[in-house]
Amino acid sequence: MNSAVPIRHDALPEDAVRGVIALAHHAGAKGWVPATSGNFSVRIDDDHCAITASGGDKGALTADGVIRASVRGPAHPRASAEAPLHYLMYRMSPEIGAVAHVHAQPAVLASLVLAKKERVKIKGLELLKAFKGITTHDTHLDVPIFDNDQDMEGLAQRVEARLKSDGLGFGFLLAGHGIYAWGANAGEALRHLDAFDYLFTLMLKLKGIPA
Ligand SMILES: [Zn+2]
Repeated sequence: MNSAVPIRHDALPEDAVRGVIALAHHAGAKGWVPATSGNFSVRIDDDHCAITASGGDKGALTADGVIRASVRGPAHPRASAEAPLHYLMYRMSPEIGAVAHVHAQPAVLASLVLAKKERVKIKGLELLKAFKGITTHDTHLDVPIFDNDQDMEGLAQRVEARLKSDGLGFGFLLAGHGIYAWGANAGEALRHLDAFDYLFTLMLKLKGIPA
């Protein structure tokens, strides 16, 4: 008789859960996820991620609020309606290890006020160096903006097509809604999110808009 303990295929790796909770608590402390908004995920393997379940205050997230979801479907019954955009990013690049989505006011304002030709151009600012691979302020970063949409599968198709042609970058904006940002791991996704927040706030202030 084989006494080996069976492997639980639905088990969530502790480090992935810790990463999701760290992202969620940081966003909660910053006021980026009001009224149970926002969602956060960390890759487990090629086909799965740990991701926040729908609802709940992400600033007070515990392990009970993190589920294991397939990035190729079918949909998890507790998953957020916005989860397909997380799954898309994991399918698009094996380099992406964590994805964060927040409703931070500077991102929402930037999507409406700083938009030019369906993008926000961030140019000439020192904190551009917070993004992976950028080593000088003397450059620019185009952040794509998409019209908000309640049809997540349709939106995911538009995001996929544009990022494939324009490059993956570090995040995108949904107009009047918020931002998705990612990184190789939870720490890098958090750094990119912080950098976007600072840069959008600064650019809005330069236009005389308090953010
Ligand atoms: Zn949202």
